[in-house]
Amino acid sequence: MQKPYRKIGGEGKMCTVGGGPDIGNIETLVAKDYECLDCKNQFKGMGRRPMCPTCKSRNVKAV
Ligand SMILES: [Zn+2]
Repeated sequence: MQKPYRKIGGEGKMCTVGGGPDIGNIETLVAKDYECLDCKNQFKGMGRRPMCPTCKSRNVKAV
């Protein structure tokens, strides 16, 4: 027989740990490595269309 352990500690905590906002932010905050196809510069970019910090080109690819 097991004790009903979950009922003793945690009903309130379960709700607050549920973490909606964190999951939403991960997609926008993730930084990937990109390489500029114009000047071959490699940089960390965020978002769908990062811009090369050196030549301001958007002709980049993820590496
Ligand atoms: Zn560039």
